[in-house]
Amino acid sequence: MTQLPLRAQLASALGRTAATLSRATGRGDGSVIGGRVGLALEPDLLRKLAQDRKLALVSATNGKTTTTRLITSALQELGDVATNAFGANMPAGHVSALSSAKHAPYGVLEVDEKYLPEVIDTTGAGVIVMMNLSRDQMDRAGEIWLLAQKWRRALAGRPAHVIANADDPLVAWGASTAASVTWVSVGQPWKEDSWCCPECGGPLDRKGMDYTPPGTAAPAAVSGPVPGTASGAVSGALVSRSAENDWACRECTFRRPEPTWSLDDDAVIDPRGQRWVLDIQLPGRANRSNAVIALATAETFGLPVQRALPRLREVTSVAGRYTTVQRDGRHARLLLAKNPAGWLEAFDVLDRSLPVILSVNAQGPDGRDTSWLWDVDYRVLRGRPVYVTGERKLDLALRLDVAGVPFQLTGSFAEALAAQPPGKVDVIANYTAFQQIRSEFGRAV
Ligand SMILES: [Zn+2]
Repeated sequence: MTQLPLRAQLASALGRTAATLSRATGRGDGSVIGGRVGLALEPDLLRKLAQDRKLALVSATNGKTTTTRLITSALQELGDVATNAFGANMPAGHVSALSSAKHAPYGVLEVDEKYLPEVIDTTGAGVIVMMNLSRDQMDRAGEIWLLAQKWRRALAGRPAHVIANADDPLVAWGASTAASVTWVSVGQPWKEDSWCCPECGGPLDRKGMDYTPPGTAAPAAVSGPVPGTASGAVSGALVSRSAENDWACRECTFRRPEPTWSLDDDAVIDPRGQRWVLDIQLPGRANRSNAVIALATAETFGLPVQRALPRLREVTSVAGRYTTVQRDGRHARLLLAKNPAGWLEAFDVLDRSLPVILSVNAQGPDGRDTSWLWDVDYRVLRGRPVYVTGERKLDLALRLDVAGVPFQLTGSFAEALAAQPPGKVDVIANYTAFQQIRSEFGRAV
């Protein structure tokens, strides 16, 4: 990196001091307060810290923290990487991340979907990763179509290269103004926010449903003309698996771009048609999708699959997700689910032989409105012991009751855990419920 101007150096140093103080006084990891102090002293600090680095920005409704971690792990094969590992994904967090790794030639930044246009503009990042867009906590998200439209405007006329999930119509639309795109096919388990063409509002024809929760009936295929598989695909496997995720508008020319990378069950197929088994430690289909995105991104930085994949295997948990906490012989594995798409991902990871504890809060970061619980199909939980806790346990209890899922209400997570026989149990919690469990049971691992 070139030398920062004196004012920016000072702002950066004071920001780090504030972060250190914040940690020392037990007020969290300090990445937000440190960044805020730096930005207050030098409003142009993020731009200056981003200069002369090879930066990737990672945005999505779900999976951005994990994918940021996977890409970071891969790029460490090439050199030092600055990253916002604690999920502080707005500009103050970015300032803090870049400031604390001043000489790292690479940067991988998780970016809140709403801040992505601003951060693209400020940092001039060369690589932008766009994964999925779906409804989030209802009082925060606003209209995701408007968000995709802002992404389009932010990308237009820039030299940036985008890595995007071609299977998510809204993401494909949001990314399609970019100068160049690597299209990746990793499926779209949650389709409820994209039945309409983002370009014209017409109906989208979809080839099929690539994900059916265990224990539920497969929805009928969408009728109407079905898009054909494109010619020129590089292998038979890519055509067969990727084709299941194909989509096209019935009324205009907008259709799925042709992907060059594809998730194929437990493997990735690269642009040369070579199949690599994704023997990563992180569980579930969503994480295999994240790994494919990470490998495509790594290759954009010049890192081939054979060097990137071993780095992905080293990641075992991300900000507490998938870690196990224990007490009195009970081993509870923690899964985070913040929105309907996140619950689908968590259901996919659950061990069907184990009981499950569900904990839901509705504090600020969770969204105060829990009506999104009604968008989740909980019938998959039938047939196993289900324990319900959290500040909004009654909201979830009503939802489960209507879905015909037997459950037991408990006063706290500790009580729910104590009600288990010694052994393993799975836990799904939304954001602040998850953090409460981590702070009470230790943040280790
Ligand atoms: Zn259309």
